Amino acid sequence: MTFKNTLEFAQKLDAEDKLARYREEFIFPQHNGENVIYFTGNSLGLQPKSAKRYVDEIMTDWANLAVEGHFYAEKPWWDYHDRFAQKLAKVVGAKPAEVTVMNTLTVNLHLLMASFYRPKGKRYKIICEEKAFPSDQYMISSQVRFHGYKPEDAIVEIKKREGEHNLRTEDILNKIEKVGSECALVLIGGVNYYTGQVLAMEEITKAGHKVGAFVGWDLAHAAGNIALKLHDWQVDFAAWCSYKYMNSGPGNASGCFINEKYHNLKDIPRFEGWWGHKKDERFLMKPEFKPEAGANAWQISNPPVLAMAPYLASLELFAEVGMPALIEKRNTIVAYLEFILQEIDKEVPGTFEIITPSRQEERGTQLSVFLHGQGKALFDYLMNHGVITDWREPNVIRLAPAPFYCSFEDMYNFGQILKKGIQDKS
Ligand SMILES: *Cc1c(COP(=O)(O)O)cnc(C)c1O
Repeated sequence: MTFKNTLEFAQKLDAEDKLARYREEFIFPQHNGENVIYFTGNSLGLQPKSAKRYVDEIMTDWANLAVEGHFYAEKPWWDYHDRFAQKLAKVVGAKPAEVTVMNTLTVNLHLLMASFYRPKGKRYKIICEEKAFPSDQYMISSQVRFHGYKPEDAIVEIKKREGEHNLRTEDILNKIEKVGSECALVLIGGVNYYTGQVLAMEEITKAGHKVGAFVGWDLAHAAGNIALKLHDWQVDFAAWCSYKYMNSGPGNASGCFINEKYHNLKDIPRFEGWWGHKKDERFLMKPEFKPEAGANAWQISNPPVLAMAPYLASLELFAEVGMPALIEKRNTIVAYLEFILQEIDKEVPGTFEIITPSRQEERGTQLSVFLHGQGKALFDYLMNHGVITDWREPNVIRLAPAPFYCSFEDMYNFGQILKKGIQDKS
């Protein structure tokens, strides 16, 4: 498609957009009486209008039924989490039994490492990406120390080449091969939070298995953003938060994937609790633990139903629209945003550089823009003009036009504001 940097053209794209009406399903913060241009759906997705209804339903059931709500609520609380599996499985490319919702992301990665990081003899190393999301760094480092190893010895980081912004698949594969039989676990962010790069998850998973390691993925920036086929890729485990692209609300529950090949293993190490116990016998309160079928065996506590309500509301929207339609719009809106940035770069050259890969297969919704020179002042200018982006040191703004609710007109308007900001500041 040949794009044009005009309001008319942007409006034409909106008129042709099959998902355009979903913009109305979300609540936008206001700036001078108008919707902000929201680029931070990769950090905290907007609130679906239906979320409040889902929460209110539980508040009402709690008021009217109190403890009886566990079994007699509109959506009974005791197995509330079971409502997620079918729909979430579609989002991440899994079988429903491989998916569960519980706790929060970093907590779940720790719990999954109890099962999948089992260092033994000379196989004790973890391969991860350099400058992983800080929580992942702390998590991996503390796991390694917990098992009595030194992080500087047991953690192997895959590094970018000098002067490059993104990881090369060949470098990742080579590193895995080199660590070889010392590698216990490969655990990487599937979509890099800083650059937006999408890694070759299938190939990397295969390479990890080839050296006898487990392979897990942190999908914080991938779930609800890119096409995932966790089951077909033979991924061992994965976890993601739901408040980014999945619009579930601040700090909300995490989703987990555990490959079905681990479901009925009697000897798999796992931290257990009563919610992982077989549902139909859970309330017999017997001393012996009988695991639920599938990923649900990793459940520990009874679910925080009030928190999960908005997640369910949002997930219903994902089920209605489906990832293929979201991805189709995502590809167009991201390409349009990229085009607009390039147009501005022609008019006021040298002010910024897109560090996200330009190939569609290597990126999702996010474009990370490295600002040369003016940095933070330009970011502040955007915020003061109703453009919500975020700032990452040393000099990067991240722009994620979530296809669920961002419009092509937003992209055009953003371009105009950005150009003015650059001109005003220089
Ligand atoms: C957002 C994000 C997290 C956040 O973890 P929480 O436990 O939900 O606070 C972790 N890892 C990555 C890669 C993230 O992008």
